[in-house]
Amino acid sequence: MKNRRLVMIPGPTPVVRSIQDQMGRETVAFGDPGFVKDFKELLTDLKELWKSSGEVFVVAGTGTMAMEMAIANTLKSGDNLLIVSHGFFGDRFVELAERKGIVADILKAEWGKIIPVEEIEKKLSEKKYQAVTVTHVDTSTGVCAPVAEIGEMMKKFPETIYIVDGVCATAGEREYIDEMNIDVLLTGSQKAFGVAPGLEMVWASQKALARRKEIGTIPEYYVDFEKWLPIMQDTSKYYATPAVNLIWALKESVRLIKEEGIEARYDRHIKVGRAMQSALESMGFGILADKDHRAVTLSNVLYPEGIDDMKFRTILAEEGAQVAGGLAAYAGKMFRIGHMGNVDMHDLVGAISAIERTLYRMGTDILGKGVATLQKELLK
Ligand code: PMP
Repeated sequence: MKNRRLVMIPGPTPVVRSIQDQMGRETVAFGDPGFVKDFKELLTDLKELWKSSGEVFVVAGTGTMAMEMAIANTLKSGDNLLIVSHGFFGDRFVELAERKGIVADILKAEWGKIIPVEEIEKKLSEKKYQAVTVTHVDTSTGVCAPVAEIGEMMKKFPETIYIVDGVCATAGEREYIDEMNIDVLLTGSQKAFGVAPGLEMVWASQKALARRKEIGTIPEYYVDFEKWLPIMQDTSKYYATPAVNLIWALKESVRLIKEEGIEARYDRHIKVGRAMQSALESMGFGILADKDHRAVTLSNVLYPEGIDDMKFRTILAEEGAQVAGGLAAYAGKMFRIGHMGNVDMHDLVGAISAIERTLYRMGTDILGKGVATLQKELLK
């Protein structure tokens, strides 16, 4: 039987029809009054939903570019940056900073664990850091950082900019910019927003905007806040061409978020995340992240003894679900499955049942077990 292939990697996530339709619309001029209005409404919604009294930048690019935008606008060569790393994407800030001549110190967690807030506080007390980066959910480990607690602690360091990488979290894990004392929140369109890849969103607090001004001219041109600020404040202006159809697609995603209710969406992610993790555990898999710090947007799933990664993922793809492999030391030992954004019951049951069939074909008969656990949890 030929199966449709469910995209269950941790981004891009399934793109629902109404969002696809926005990408298929006839493209208009970016100065078209209808588009100017749509873009403006989108920016207003993004600030309101994430409770930001600062600004938001929506620019064509990916999450990595958003990371670069955050660093480029808040730090200059010779500044000190503290990187709190819970995995591969936390580590990505190191090279990014070093290339700019920023002095990067790193607090690196054992994969699956978090750096305790006290340890971050201790480090910040030892030396003056202009900024600190925290990856909300590190996609390589499935660890969710305590961003609210860190934000509370950061109040003791009012001169340090608090940067949060929300690429695998925003629109799935709770984030409130002002309340959590976040100065820069960065993300991309392809994960919990359920839009195709190609847009990055960066929220900046008044403190971050003031820091940008203090720095003066920066070497970067495309990602400069100062260049984009006039456009984000008046969407009829031009700096570089906006990704018209992707902006419409993101607007539709935000409309869906408002229709669902953002709090209901966050609660749904918790329910789905925990149900998927219970289902996977009931089938004999392990979960890499410590129970207290597990993301709800994806699961990083450890194979039981004797399961070959390549064989598993190849059969799983034949059975109709595509998942991602483990990174770095976990390549071959783990797979990663996304359950964020606009996934529905059919996607989840379909993915778990495809995993059951894969195990069956590999000689382990647990047919029905994962699906039963998943559905019972979701029906609670
Ligand atoms: N940060 C995190 C936490 C990510 O998961 C990713 C992508 N998986 C990135 C940054 C980089 O984003 P992109 O691939 O869109 O450049």
